[in-house]
Amino acid sequence: MSIKYRSFCSGSGGNASLLWNWAAGLLIDFAPGCQRDCRAALKEVRLAGTAAAAVLVTHAHGDHINANSLKILREVGLPVLCHPEVARQITRKYGAAYAGLIKTFERTTEIAGFTVSQARVQHAPGYYTSAFGITAAGASRNYKASVFTDLNAFTEEHLALAADSDLLVLEANHDLGLLERYGHPGSEFHLSNLQAASFLHGVCARSRRQPKAVALGHLSEDCNAPHLPPAEIEAYFGKKNLPMKFKTHVSPRFAPGALITIK
Ligand SMILES: [Zn+2]
Repeated sequence: MSIKYRSFCSGSGGNASLLWNWAAGLLIDFAPGCQRDCRAALKEVRLAGTAAAAVLVTHAHGDHINANSLKILREVGLPVLCHPEVARQITRKYGAAYAGLIKTFERTTEIAGFTVSQARVQHAPGYYTSAFGITAAGASRNYKASVFTDLNAFTEEHLALAADSDLLVLEANHDLGLLERYGHPGSEFHLSNLQAASFLHGVCARSRRQPKAVALGHLSEDCNAPHLPPAEIEAYFGKKNLPMKFKTHVSPRFAPGALITIK
């Protein structure tokens, strides 16, 4: 028994990833690009050997869900699952015609053997944004994944939602030094590498065991580089004298990331 995770694309140009077990899969956000890119991503899902039961959507920004991706989801009959406020923003932005595709939940829901909990996170003004905690029952134990894609701050509630995760999906948007040098509009809505390191440290401090894997994503093109977030996290844990027991994977912007298997 295991759970698997793969990012298909990650960043302001588009986000889509898949979490799955032996029985079913959940897409997490779905905005791979044009309609051809959307179809290609759904083909990747089939190649992974699973069928997606739904798309969990964190918020209505176009790099997480958009008119292209909704059209393809409707074509294949794949429902969108999100907070009622996110649903309202999706239909306001992309058309009421998609309302029938969307199922909403406030706190917790069950889908295809997964239990999904959500909590609101602070992101961009006017956009209700969720983080997810997802539990999948296995033969001998439960597996837990948590997903924090777009946020600019975190609270005790968020650390508690992420505690004891086997897999943590977390944004590490920008390096503070590069941001100072090059600047980037919108970076104030996202976690810096240092904030991501502090988030991970907070989660580990509240967990009985550290995550097995951490998928870092939503890296800024101008103000980050793939080697920087893992180095920042390592330095942070070193400073706090906490051994780092998990592996970090950085999700590429426009290509599939590593296949992460949690046994
Ligand atoms: Zn966003």
